[in-house]
Amino acid sequence: MQVSFEGSEIWFLTGSQGLYGEDTLQQVAEQSQRVAAALDDSADVPVRVVWKPVLKDAGAIRRLMGEANEEPACLGVITWMHTFSPAKMWISGLDALRKPLLHLHTQADAALPWATIDMDFMNLNQAAHGDREYGFMLTRLRTPRTTVAGHVSNPRVARRVGSWARAAAGAAEARGLRLARFGDNMRNVAVTEGDKVEAEIRFGMSVNTWGVNDLVEVVTAVPHSDVDAVIAEYGDLYDMDDDLRPGGERHDSVRYQARIEVALRQFLTEGGFGAFTTNFEDLGGLRQLPGLAVQRLMADGYGFGGEGDWKTSALLRVLKTAAAGLPGGTSFMEDYTYDLASDTPKILGAHMLEVCPTIAGEKPRLEVHPLGIGGREDPARLVFNAAPGAGVTIGWSDLGDRFRWVANEIDVVEPSEPLPNLPVARAVWEPRPDFETATEGWLTAGGPHHTVLSTQLGTEELTDLAEVFDTELVVIDADTTRRGLAKELRWSAAYHRLAQRL
Ligand code: MN
Repeated sequence: MQVSFEGSEIWFLTGSQGLYGEDTLQQVAEQSQRVAAALDDSADVPVRVVWKPVLKDAGAIRRLMGEANEEPACLGVITWMHTFSPAKMWISGLDALRKPLLHLHTQADAALPWATIDMDFMNLNQAAHGDREYGFMLTRLRTPRTTVAGHVSNPRVARRVGSWARAAAGAAEARGLRLARFGDNMRNVAVTEGDKVEAEIRFGMSVNTWGVNDLVEVVTAVPHSDVDAVIAEYGDLYDMDDDLRPGGERHDSVRYQARIEVALRQFLTEGGFGAFTTNFEDLGGLRQLPGLAVQRLMADGYGFGGEGDWKTSALLRVLKTAAAGLPGGTSFMEDYTYDLASDTPKILGAHMLEVCPTIAGEKPRLEVHPLGIGGREDPARLVFNAAPGAGVTIGWSDLGDRFRWVANEIDVVEPSEPLPNLPVARAVWEPRPDFETATEGWLTAGGPHHTVLSTQLGTEELTDLAEVFDTELVVIDADTTRRGLAKELRWSAAYHRLAQRL
């Protein structure tokens, strides 16, 4: 499962016009190549930035936007009006563009040469009004985009461009994503439901169901040697009691879970799937609920949602793609229980079994325990605490007339005490701005109980992603107040109703 930006590109487009003559246009080309190269060289921009020849007329702009649409390697385009590029000539090109757009507002050199500046310099360095002309057209066309201002030597500029590039990579992943559901949603649960047709229209993801016994057939056929290879990996990567190791009394429980892992990976690879769901109510011939197997596949980059939750599964795959290469981890998560007694109340998040080891702060322990739910044999799972650090949780609700994403900035902390009797992986966090405001806000916004927890991504990437998809994102962060959020939800509802086509 690929989680990298290898082979991906961002195209750097420079706007100008024929008015200035060849000498000036050559300078524009040279300077814009320098700006593109600075972004390409920045460690904060994870994708190759490819400079394209300066655009001077409507036909060339339209052709290049068409090429960007058709080129699979192109995740999105950056546009900069180095000089003045009359914006009517951008209309048909922008209208055709179907990929994420970043408007970079910059200038070739940071310092103004006060002592030597003349009208030639003024004519060459006029992005200050060239980009205003272009920004007007983007707004006039209602073009979704991310706007970033500042000189490329400013680290903040490269970081913002990098954040947008990550969102563009997530968007590209969503557009081609195939998700396999083994069984339907958990019976009677509301928030994991959703409109799969609308999800495909808006995000491009294709969500379909397979019978769990299709998977069981693959599980049964897995050769012993393949199971052995995975078991050897477990021995290297995880701590475990001796009775779970080869030859041990309970080794068979681990072997069966390894068999599920090999089969799931094969099924997903052969079907071209990037994400999947399971449901403990519909396990067919499976002898264990997939636990360790799911954890391992998430660590490989697959999206996953429990109880048939395809929305969270898809979101996890998209966010893992966007987060490629960043420190930290990204996992399926569920708000489980609270510690309300401490000065700063804490949320203990976990799931039945399925938490991704990329968020682990220690070497995971492989354990086998009974599971009260599902009525099957004791499943193998990895147990660990999540590493402390700043992060975000994000959930996806279907409000009927639209999708809403709700995000909360959080600080993952160490558990207050050891948890010797809790045999599942878990994360403990403090939500921002404080427990009451964050949870009241989350409930008021109708946010779900399943989320993606990431210590790799932040509000910036999520905001850019929501912008690309023109999807509502409610952010609860350090600046959130109850009254402010209540008003935002009302205005946001009105906006999103009005923004929908009739
Ligand atoms: Mn759940």
